[in-house]
Amino acid sequence: MTSTTKLAPATLPEFDVVVIGGGPGGYISAVHCAELGLRVALVERERMGGVSLGWGCIPTKAMLRYATIVDALRCEKIPGIRISGLTVDYAAVHKHSRDIADRLVMDVNRLLLDNNITVYRGHAMLAGATDVEVETMDALYKLRAKNIILATGTSAANSPLAAYGAHILTYREALDRPVLPDPLIVVGAGPVGLECATIFAAYNRETLLFESSDRVLPNEDHDISAAMAEALSKSSVKLHTSCEILPTSVHPDEPVGRRVALSVRNTVSGELRVHYAEAVMLAFGHVPNTRDLGLEKAGVVTDEHGYIVTDEYLCTNVPGIYAVGDVTGKPALASVAEAQAHYVAMQVSHGEGLRMPGNLAPVYANIPHYIYSSPQVAGVGLTETQAIARGREINIRRMPFKTSLAMNRSSNSFDGFVKVISDLDTDRVLGVHMIGPNVTELLPQLAFHGGHGVRADDLMHAIQSQAGLRDPLRHALRELEGLELHGG
Ligand SMILES: Cc1cc2nc3c(=O)[nH]c(=O)nc-3n(C[C@H](O)[C@H](O)[C@H](O)COP(=O)(O)OP(=O)(O)OC[C@H]3O[C@@H](n4cnc5c(N)ncnc54)[C@H](O)[C@@H]3O)c2cc1C
Repeated sequence: MTSTTKLAPATLPEFDVVVIGGGPGGYISAVHCAELGLRVALVERERMGGVSLGWGCIPTKAMLRYATIVDALRCEKIPGIRISGLTVDYAAVHKHSRDIADRLVMDVNRLLLDNNITVYRGHAMLAGATDVEVETMDALYKLRAKNIILATGTSAANSPLAAYGAHILTYREALDRPVLPDPLIVVGAGPVGLECATIFAAYNRETLLFESSDRVLPNEDHDISAAMAEALSKSSVKLHTSCEILPTSVHPDEPVGRRVALSVRNTVSGELRVHYAEAVMLAFGHVPNTRDLGLEKAGVVTDEHGYIVTDEYLCTNVPGIYAVGDVTGKPALASVAEAQAHYVAMQVSHGEGLRMPGNLAPVYANIPHYIYSSPQVAGVGLTETQAIARGREINIRRMPFKTSLAMNRSSNSFDGFVKVISDLDTDRVLGVHMIGPNVTELLPQLAFHGGHGVRADDLMHAIQSQAGLRDPLRHALRELEGLELHGG
């Protein structure tokens, strides 16, 4: 259990640090500050653990694990396993994922308690450069802080489609439901849309996925998008790209009972089609949680989209006020929020005016990214298009995973490939992009070696193990080095 100090509104408890937001950016900052000997308060208005523990990283991955198994049992011929009628129970998987998420939230609460962090359950607002007001169910608390860390995250953006009521769901509303709407349409084929569509399709048999751009995962390397489209064409996720959703044509309850009719125009062919679904999940558009945060009272500057502007040390323009996590507009990943949280805690504990060395600050250029869809996607560094746009002369090697003996032996599923992009002049690896079963497992090694900046021959020597996923990566690097494919 966490502690909530009920104080008379007039008293002004002082802390070394007040952290606003209990997601990975916030609670990790708070715990690390406390470990460094600071007196810390944390304010959370909703669920400790934020999006990451409540809906994002943890619940989706718990469900994706089982979705992948369901997919494999349906689609693959697995030696030694014969299935004569597969029954799936989404409600049970949903409950399992909620149980895991709840346990982790309890762990976080315990961590905060063990570190003597004072927790306030309510909405926090800045009341000045060193003052925070917290509105709880039954009181208004005023806190004073030498330092304030803003870690308020983002929320799903409002969409005009939301006007069509209960049929239109945010990702949180969709993931909160123990019963899947059937059929279900997902709009937005980025990482969140694709992961959710993978889960839903395993249990609903068919999920429609609409994307406005001309390819799935538009921010990935174009070869990865093409391979994902091919993989989806053999799955229960039905992908439609170049789609324009016409908001005015959504008619709740018409024409088929409880279903919604969604008019979708193909922006290339001009074809207009009406699709019916019990619900539509919107998986695009986020807004920073900076409204009603009192930023103007402290004079904290935001960019034109409302994200908090920080320098490389995560300092805002107001001395003593820092920001971490999704609210900074940096890549929206819990891993980024966590790296920032550790850094900012050291920065705060150094004291006013002292700066931690810049080379310890999080570096955003080569953050590994990963999508736990089926097949998985993972990568680090520049895509082919980005490398060319930066005027680099590049060398490219693609190596299919079917060259890996272990993969061939263990799976009949989509094989996938690794694509390595290097600089023709310097041999430096500019980007590595992978699609296939379990490719996310290769990321730690690539991230460790920096992806961008390491020479292809150094990376080749670092990729040691054989007969696993690393084998094709090693072969691609050998080819880049002009070495024989099957040499030692
Ligand atoms: C479906 C999905 C899957 C994802 N999968 C992954 C993944 O596999 N790996 C990964 O690294 N990332 C993943 N992410 C992204 C990850 O969840 C976010 O990057 C991460 O949660 C950001 O952490 P944060 O602390 O910045 O913000 P949040 O987690 O959003 O936490 C912010 C907290 O601040 C609270 N808050 C806001 N305003 C106030 C206020 N005024 N007063 C008090 N409290 C306030 C909110 O209630 C919230 O709890 C996923 C996201 C989604 C949506």
